[in-house]
Order: sequence, then C-alpha cells, then structure tokens
Amino acid sequence: MSNSPHRKLHVMFFPFMAHGHMIPALDLAKLFSSRGAKSTILTTPLNSKILQKPIDAFKNRNPSLQIDLEIFDFPCVQLGLPEGCENVDFFTSNRNSDVGYMIFKFFKSTKFFKDQLEKLLETTRPDCLIADMFFPWATEAAEKFQVPRFVFHGTGYFSLSTGYCIRVHQPQKRIASSSEPFVIPDLPGDIVLTQDQIIDGEDESEMGKFMTEVRESEVKSSGVVVNSFYELEPDYADFYKRFVAKRAWHIGPLSVLNRGFEDKVERGKKTTIDEMECLKWLDSKKPESVIYVSFGSMASFKNEQLIEIAAGLEASGTNFIWVVRKNEGDKEEWLPNGFEERVKEKGMIIRGWAPQVLILDHKATGGFVTHCGWNSILEGVAAGLPMVTWPVEAEQFYNEKLVTEVLRIGVSVGARREGFISREKVEKAVREVLVGEEAEERQGRVKKLAEMAKAAVEEGGSSFNDLNSFIEEFSS
Ligand code: UDP
Repeated sequence: MSNSPHRKLHVMFFPFMAHGHMIPALDLAKLFSSRGAKSTILTTPLNSKILQKPIDAFKNRNPSLQIDLEIFDFPCVQLGLPEGCENVDFFTSNRNSDVGYMIFKFFKSTKFFKDQLEKLLETTRPDCLIADMFFPWATEAAEKFQVPRFVFHGTGYFSLSTGYCIRVHQPQKRIASSSEPFVIPDLPGDIVLTQDQIIDGEDESEMGKFMTEVRESEVKSSGVVVNSFYELEPDYADFYKRFVAKRAWHIGPLSVLNRGFEDKVERGKKTTIDEMECLKWLDSKKPESVIYVSFGSMASFKNEQLIEIAAGLEASGTNFIWVVRKNEGDKEEWLPNGFEERVKEKGMIIRGWAPQVLILDHKATGGFVTHCGWNSILEGVAAGLPMVTWPVEAEQFYNEKLVTEVLRIGVSVGARREGFISREKVEKAVREVLVGEEAEERQGRVKKLAEMAKAAVEEGGSSFNDLNSFIEEFSS
C-alpha cells in the first residue's frame, strides 16, 4: 500500500472493550497507518496486553509506520465491577444469571473514560477521533476541543438501515402476535422479520434509553465509518447515506488486509490450539470439504444444544472444525458418548479461541456455520464461503437476512432468540450448504463477492477511494 501524499493525519481509535469491537478497530488503525496516518488506539491496561503483540508485530514488519497505544485507567472495583473486568469477555466466559445486568453496568461504566479522553484530546489535538458507538459521551468530549468525532458501529449498512426503519415505523407495534411476520417499511428488498428478531433495547428499558443516547451522539457526530464495501450492499449503502447518517465512509472489509500468517492468528484472544497443528490437519483434507462452526466471541450454548450440534455434525458426515465456548471449569457433559473417538478423523473441536481467519482462508474449508456477527460474515464473504446462518442475539438476525435473502449465499438453520435447534436441522442445513445444485449457485455467488471484497480495498477500489477521500478531507 502506498503512503499518502497528504500531511500526516493523526487519528485516534477508541474501541469498546469486546473482541468483536477491538479486532476491527486494530485493523482500522493498521489500515490508516498503512496509508500514512499516525494511529493511536485508546484502551485499558488489560486490553493493551491483547493489542500490544499484534501492534509490535505490525511495526516490526513496517518500521516506518506509526501505530501506538494510549492506556486509560479503568478502576473496576471503584466502578462497582468485579476486579479485572476490562472486557465483556469477562462476563461471557463466566456466565451466570446476572450476565445481562452486569454487561449493561459495564457499558455505563465506560463513561469514566470521558475525563481522561478530554485531557488527552486537549494535549495531543489529533485530527479526528473514531470512537465506538457505545461511547456516546465521546462526541461531546471531542467537540470541546474541535476534534471531529466519527462513530464506528462495527456492523454493516444493511443492519444499520434495518434498525433505522424499525425505529421510525415501529412495524412490530401493528401486529397481532409476536410470531406474526411483517415487512420492514421503506427498507429496500421487502425484508420480512418477526418481533423476536428485533434488536433488544429498541424500547423504554434502561438499555433503550442508553441506545437513544447512542443515536443522539451519532447525529451530533461528524459521521460514521463503516466496515463494509459498496458492492456487498449497494442499495443499503445508498439508503443509509441518503436517509440515516449525515456522512458515511465505507473502508472494508478490514479483515482482508491481514494477509500474513501472524496477522491472521493474532486476532483477539490467544488461540487454544497450535496453529500449525490446525493447518496440518486442514492440509490433510480435500479442498472445500470442511465446515467451520463458530458462534463468535460472546455467544455460548447450553449442554442440550451442544449435544444436538455434535449429533447433527456427525450425521452430516462432513469434516468439521467446531469452536466451543463453555464456562471455565464446566464439566464436559456436552458431547454424545464416544463422540470424539468416532469423529476423530473427521472432526476437530477447539475449546476456546480459534485462529478463525486462518481457518476460513484455507482451501480445505468449504462452508461456515456462523452466528452472523458482522466480522464473521465479512470474513466468510472474503474467504468465498457459503454459510449456514444461526443468529443468537443483537443485530445478528438482521445480518442473517442479508446473507440468506439479499445476497443468497447462505442457508438459515431456522434459529429464534432463545430457541432450540434439533440435530436434524443442523444436519440438513450443513448438507444443503455444501452439496447440490443450489449449493453450487451459492458458492458461485459468494466467490464473486470474495473477488469484489479484495478489489474494493485495492488501489482504485470503492473502499480504497472512500478512505482516500476521508484522509484528504480531514488532513486539510
Ligand atoms: N474470533 C476468532 N476466534 C474465535 C472466535 C472469534 O478469531 O474463536 C474472531 C472472529 O474472527 C471475528 C471476531 O472474533 O473477527 C468476532 O466478531 P463477530 O462480529 O463475528 O462476533 P461477536 O464476537 O462480536 O459476536
């Protein structure tokens, strides 16, 4: 990538402390530095340990590029949080009945950063601040020092536009029962949803009030930076830019900038498998014969559901890599008797954290069972993989619609919030995504999108150009 001819832009990035937000923020910082900017990532002491290694590796490979960390204090106990809790992972890895309440408390506690942010902005005067959507107070902090604040949602145009149309028209209030489907008014494509697929917090609850603050701060911000590329969702990019955001720039997909081995494995937590062993296993399999199953960095299932996934994968007869998140110390009661012995040739179970991009990009991988987190979807698209969609929470139900109905590159397993999926459904969806005429058509479509994804970030591509115009505008 070429260095920018413009004055060196100094950009600050402030991601929410969850892996699904920190991973793209790190990619974003690397992207801006590759284009000649000075990048500074703001985070807490424990999260800095996660980010430091990939930053050092990036700087070693690119000694002339500038990317640094600035560490903010986050006194958990003083804020009424458990000691050492600086990332949502703290709660989702040790789930208990309080998890929802504690995560909300964690969200609210981040306002503690405001003073530290103001001091830093006052002394360093960066050209702009790209702060996470979950930091609504960041707009006001930046405004005090005339620093433009941009919002990073971490999701795509389709779900942002869907959320907007639902908020404005409230179609869920005009239906007789929560299971009755409705068309989302105004949204291109006649997309149909049911009430339980709507994002939590679109209501009068405390979370709802917090989300109102989030939106108000976005309206007052200088615009939105979107991890997507135009060719993936053109109708929704146009809709969003026309009706929803003041300004928006798409600069993704960010994950494709990670081309080397180190870049691909050093994302988020430390992997709980030897990457070389994983590659060796994949090398031993036929092209496109493995399905990768992962539900992201937060979601986890009860034992009864895990047993069904195991049985469904086994019945499908396909090779698989399955990433399982369980609470530390949980007994392994989630595998059918003798499962690992029976599938030892065909299946690999990763307990904890997988080198996801490395696996998705391997030629032996032919499909992806995903919870529809936006990073995972972009990573799957960039790897040219058809998907089995299994949304669990948040905007994942919207992303599923994009994958299955708009792009037609996925098969829905039929998941509902808090719902249960039988082994038969797992088996059917996995078979359907890998084999048959429709599977081939889906594969063809997603491979084209993968090419477009790579082209978008190359010189002259749509995301390359959008980033250029951002840099030009804010360097001056
Ligand atoms: N990820 C990973 N290994 C894992 C689980 C997740 O590398 O075992 C990465 C994945 O590649 C993605 C991010 O974590 O970049 C998860 O983000 P996503 O938006 O897909 O879901 P979330 O975790 O926010 O629900």
